[in-house]
Amino acid sequence: MSKNALITGASRGIGRAIAIEFARAGYDLTLCCIKNIDTLKLLAKDLTDTYKVKCKAFQADVSDPEAVRSLFSKIEPPSVLINNAGISYVGLVTDMTDDDWKHTIDTNLSSVFYMCRAAIPHMLLEFSGKIINVSSVWGESGASMEVAYSASKGGLDAFTKALAKELAPSGISVNAVACGLIDTDMNSHLSDEELTDVVSDIPADRIGKPAEVASVILSLAESTNYLTGQIIKVDGGWM
Ligand code: NAD
Repeated sequence: MSKNALITGASRGIGRAIAIEFARAGYDLTLCCIKNIDTLKLLAKDLTDTYKVKCKAFQADVSDPEAVRSLFSKIEPPSVLINNAGISYVGLVTDMTDDDWKHTIDTNLSSVFYMCRAAIPHMLLEFSGKIINVSSVWGESGASMEVAYSASKGGLDAFTKALAKELAPSGISVNAVACGLIDTDMNSHLSDEELTDVVSDIPADRIGKPAEVASVILSLAESTNYLTGQIIKVDGGWM
């Protein structure tokens, strides 16, 4: 199978760092995002020019099953699927609307089902493949004011473990990386004081970098398929 990775949510933050790390390692890339397609196209061009890999950018809402079908009709099937796209919702559960709930679960969890369902048939034919999901430490421990987000990531962890068992006989590994506090726009709602407060609870005494998450994800993509069904925390020893 060729070295060919599909990364969702690659326009910024952790997804962008994953795209750079994989291009540097020689992977051809399919990148997608929901809004910032011009930024994503610039990144794709930059990676093509710098690392001489093939890199294509697509706008696709991965929470929409039709959009995922349409995306897969236009691309080379990936040997590595990285489900990174996600959104956060911060607020009391009693203030959430039906739409807020559905949007969070659809974006963070249902999207991964749609992407895996589309990617797995080709991996089965090849008897190889890697699926890596980007989860959160809140998936295991839960966070106040982030109930829907925690539920979506807890569901993602269970999805990862169950799918790993389903696909291990077919030579395909499925793992998740559960991030702690990582320096991206997702945390831009936190004030400096709030950030300092959170960091004081992290043994590593600092916020994590997107590139650190990306390097763990690349290691998973390059490792044995016997490593499967794992939720690997990248959180500076926080949880
Ligand atoms: P970010 O907000 O910087 O980037 C999110 C990316 O997801 C963007 O590229 C956006 O276009 C894409 N996206 C959102 N909804 C989408 C949709 N419906 N379809 C396609 N793309 C969509 O966030 P980030 O911090 O880089 O987060 C990446 C992943 O890491 C998420 O799954 C997030 O839950 C997880 N995570 C982040 C942190 C953190 O502290 N930053 C902690 C734990 C987990």
